[in-house]
Amino acid sequence: MKNKQNLFNLTRFELSDFFSKLGEKSYRTKQFMQWVYHQHELDFNQMLNFSKELRQKLQQVSTLELPVVTTQNFASDGLIKWLVDLGGDNHIEMVYIPEKDRGTLCISSQVGCSLACTFCSTGMQGFNRNLSTAEIIAQVVIANQYLNDKGKKISNVVFMGMGEPLLNEKAVYNACDLLLDDLAFGLSRRRVTISTSGVVPALYRMADTVPVSLAISLHAPDNQLRDELVPINQKYPIKELMDACRYYLNAGTQERHILFEYVMLDGVNDTVEHAKKLAKLLGGISAKVNLIPFNPFPKTKYKTSKTFTIKKFQDVLFHFGVRTMTRRTRGEDIDGACGQLAGKVIDKTGRTTNDRRH
Ligand code: SAH
Ligand code: SF4
Repeated sequence: MKNKQNLFNLTRFELSDFFSKLGEKSYRTKQFMQWVYHQHELDFNQMLNFSKELRQKLQQVSTLELPVVTTQNFASDGLIKWLVDLGGDNHIEMVYIPEKDRGTLCISSQVGCSLACTFCSTGMQGFNRNLSTAEIIAQVVIANQYLNDKGKKISNVVFMGMGEPLLNEKAVYNACDLLLDDLAFGLSRRRVTISTSGVVPALYRMADTVPVSLAISLHAPDNQLRDELVPINQKYPIKELMDACRYYLNAGTQERHILFEYVMLDGVNDTVEHAKKLAKLLGGISAKVNLIPFNPFPKTKYKTSKTFTIKKFQDVLFHFGVRTMTRRTRGEDIDGACGQLAGKVIDKTGRTTNDRRH
């Protein structure tokens, strides 16, 4: 049968609808999700508490399809990067970043990105297409399969790979639903983070409907500079973005915080003046700043800020009472950092190794 339903696309609610349309009782949803997400069983025939008829029916109308992993790279610092082939010359990547007290998986939401931030290799290569819920969830399933065998765990998931999650709302929100669902991945809402460059209308919807953590890619403290670095700022300037942030912080039933990401570009956005403006902008907001050393890529005009400049910037923020951390550069030997993923494989050269292009 054509057009089989890939069941990785469906949330618990949608699965229940699916099983009810097959004439099955509602407890099938729970059994099914346990097989798939807890027992890691993807073969319908092995789902032994299902009748033979149901197993056959599932095989006729549905699949549990995962994309193919093309390469898996290991950095000397423990970081792992997977390159995944989605067919049709579309590739994405995800990265596992182990730390002392957690293991974070950085996943992609689109192939490429339309927002063209000038310091981002994904943005520089344009937009190919949105990922489906199944393609987003597959990244977690694939990484989990590998890590489980090694006795490691994914404790956090961040949408900081390729693409702008808030321009692919339905698929991303459904994926978040599964990430939080106890019958699937069961992560707490603090451990799932959507990172956005500021799609303001979507931010309001997310604030009201998706109970996960938020990171804002700010990168500049004033409109003039942000217009240049993060072009979507021309459409949704800083004041509108900050209003949406305040709305997010007050929505929902639990206490919320926002992580503001700030990529450190040598001589562009890293002076003491910038730091003071940033501190003023974030005054009174429950915020934490993540200073990210710029990750260079071929043909970029930017350079990474000097270590002492980053330190000075951090000191100014600290002085004004803004909580700040500096991201360690990780996985440099495999181009592993978030915001630095697969930009180089969406061109049509078919080259999918981790060699740098020149
Ligand atoms: N589109 C979303 C999420 C993907 S990018 C967003 O922009 O937030 C994830 C993070 O990596 C963002 O903060 C992004 O600004 C940052 N980033 C992109 N390119 C980078 C680079 N070359 N070096 C360091 N950080 C980068
Ligand atoms: Fe897109 Fe984010 Fe890159 Fe900007 S930083 S181009 S929004 S992926």
